[in-house]
Amino acid sequence: MKDLSRRSFLKGAAGALGMAAIAATGVSAIAEEKGTYTPGTYTATATGIGDGIVTVTMTFDAESITDVVVDTSTQTAGYGLEKSGDFKEAIMAAQSADIDTITGVTVTSTAVKTAAAACIAQARGEAVEVAPVVEAAAEEEEISDDWLGEAPVFDTIDETVDVDVVVVGAGLSGLAAARAAAEAGAKVAVIEKSASFNVRSGEFALLNGPLNERWGRTGIVDTDVAVNRLMRECTYRNKRQILRNWAVHGWEAMDWWLQAKPDLKICDTTREVVTQEEWDNGILVPLAWPQPEHYDYTQEDFPTFPSSMEFRSSRSDQQGFMAEANIKMAEDAGAEFHYGCFGEKLLQDETGAVTGIIVREASNGNRIVQYNAKSVILATGDNSGDERIMKHFAPEIVEKKIMNMGAMGMLGVDVEGNPISRGDGLRLGAWIGAKVQDFHAPMTHHMGSGMGVTPFLQINQRGERFMNECIPGQQLENQIELQPNQTTFQIYDSSWPEQIPYMPANHGGLCYIIPEDEDESNPNYTDRQYTKVSAKANSYKYTGETIDELLTNMGFEGDAFETAKASIERYNELCRNGYDEDFGKPAGRMFAIENGPFYACEWGTTSMLVCVGGLESDENCHTFTGTAENPTRDLIKGLYVCGNVQGSRYAVEYPICFRGISHSLCVYYGWIAGQNAAKGV
Ligand SMILES: Cc1cc2nc3c(=O)[nH]c(=O)nc-3n(C[C@H](O)[C@H](O)[C@H](O)COP(=O)(O)OP(=O)(O)OC[C@H]3O[C@@H](n4cnc5c(N)ncnc54)[C@H](O)[C@@H]3O)c2cc1C
Repeated sequence: MKDLSRRSFLKGAAGALGMAAIAATGVSAIAEEKGTYTPGTYTATATGIGDGIVTVTMTFDAESITDVVVDTSTQTAGYGLEKSGDFKEAIMAAQSADIDTITGVTVTSTAVKTAAAACIAQARGEAVEVAPVVEAAAEEEEISDDWLGEAPVFDTIDETVDVDVVVVGAGLSGLAAARAAAEAGAKVAVIEKSASFNVRSGEFALLNGPLNERWGRTGIVDTDVAVNRLMRECTYRNKRQILRNWAVHGWEAMDWWLQAKPDLKICDTTREVVTQEEWDNGILVPLAWPQPEHYDYTQEDFPTFPSSMEFRSSRSDQQGFMAEANIKMAEDAGAEFHYGCFGEKLLQDETGAVTGIIVREASNGNRIVQYNAKSVILATGDNSGDERIMKHFAPEIVEKKIMNMGAMGMLGVDVEGNPISRGDGLRLGAWIGAKVQDFHAPMTHHMGSGMGVTPFLQINQRGERFMNECIPGQQLENQIELQPNQTTFQIYDSSWPEQIPYMPANHGGLCYIIPEDEDESNPNYTDRQYTKVSAKANSYKYTGETIDELLTNMGFEGDAFETAKASIERYNELCRNGYDEDFGKPAGRMFAIENGPFYACEWGTTSMLVCVGGLESDENCHTFTGTAENPTRDLIKGLYVCGNVQGSRYAVEYPICFRGISHSLCVYYGWIAGQNAAKGV
């Protein structure tokens, strides 16, 4: 297969690459002293999230920055779009481009800082070249087939440090591992290549345990039923014992995680009213709770089990307050965190056991430090930010140009400006002979558009209905990828408010209608499954008083128009018959499209959040030797994995019947890895 150009892979990743390229030219070097400006107004741009250009315009007098305009309108909601005022304030206060990165908005922050630095350089009369650098770098490289490359060689070691356990990566799983190992009495060093820890969002799956008892969710699903469902969604290429141990014991790890935050406000319902102070401090809510009156997950072909919860707060990294509380517990137990440091190469003795890791301290002049340790835990996250690994283990994401959040730096950026999720752990392991799992699982659950993944009628650009619309987001994405131009239309009529309460309580669908007069001042008001009718009144892309007018406005003409019209008529006939003999959609969700005005939303493919596939592992977080050709699978002593670099948890598909299972497995297996690494078992 011909190599894809780097540019096409980086459709969404130009931000991170562009910023790295700009930094390399020295444009982002930030001068601090005042009084050297040529008065005037200067503008510069840098690439932020996706291909989105961030523009900064700054006005100077001879002494100072007198005004700043930051345009982040191309950025993503929740990831920089609404932060232009904060950036302006920070630049004005600092009188410099050297402002703090806004937590969780790393890519946009770096773009703003880069563009602001370029404005300052212009005001100082320095030559600035920004956009061409991005373009040139993006065009240059092709994706190599050699995803592994050679392990680096270190001739000089600047310092040697002895510890019991090294944890590589301060993401969710690494934080759990560090705290667990330190509490088990080990001397722990955490090596993290970003300037801080990295967490995001906040949904967690949870079965059994006191929290579920409190919420009245005990015994919501039999453990074996749950685990079998997860195994089926992953096409039975993952390891059942890994999922079963989490299903039985996961709540123990969650109770332990919560001990770090005794003042946490735990709500009894999804949208319980909380105070601003509680919201700022962080809250925990059960999701889709109480369940919608008409949703019975036990009767669903594709159930979403009501067993999930979410940490929420006013912070942009949402669950960051829990991460900080657990870091404090880890530090109190003696763990030391080293930020801006890259784990570069595992060390082994003559038997093959791992005995430590070589670390490059990028934040300290690239000093090379050898950590000798009884155990090393890799908690380095996923591989979405590395195009070679993606092309090798999940080529469909590259070929179909699925927007890739990891490559865009939305999981975080390291101190050198690169996305954190570059598969370092996969390489570190594979260089010493650890077996990489087959069939990596892209997390590509579609979240729909304005009306969410709510299962209204869908047709494709040829006007054909093509699926049972009542399937979860991950499966929806698969179906959309099969359609012409990977484009579909979700069609509904003006009776939608009466239909919503009958829709499934799944991930990303609307299923609750809130009274119009409900007070919106509750900070915990927003939840994407709940809506006032007025809030969704304009969520459509196309509308029409008649079906003909709607289809015309959607761009249908000729045969496609006739096909679309016939598809709607056929759908209405099936709705009236109460049986979807074409695609098997549940009758209770078949609502005829007959009450104008009519509406349509347009869907493309979704974004990939992470791509999950790591080093083959087991329920004890061990790693094993082997290659596809020679799968020896001998245990590698001293090397443990948790989080997304722990392979064998998922395969092919990310399972979506439990919302937030990724975070849950991170904490549970971080906890296990930490304990086992401390004991050396
Ligand atoms: C926008 C978004 C929302 C999401 N929401 C949810 C959700 O609600 N529920 C859910 O379950 N999942 C969610 N996910 C997925 C989930 O966040 C991740 O799967 C999970 O948190 C990964 O945790 P981790 O510890 O494995 O890795 P990461 O969080 O990626 O952390 C890995 C850490 O290792 C560091 N690192 C990597 N290599 C090195 C090295 N060589 N040296 C030193 N440090 C290194 C990285 O800098 C990073 O800090 C979401 C993902 C995204 C992008």
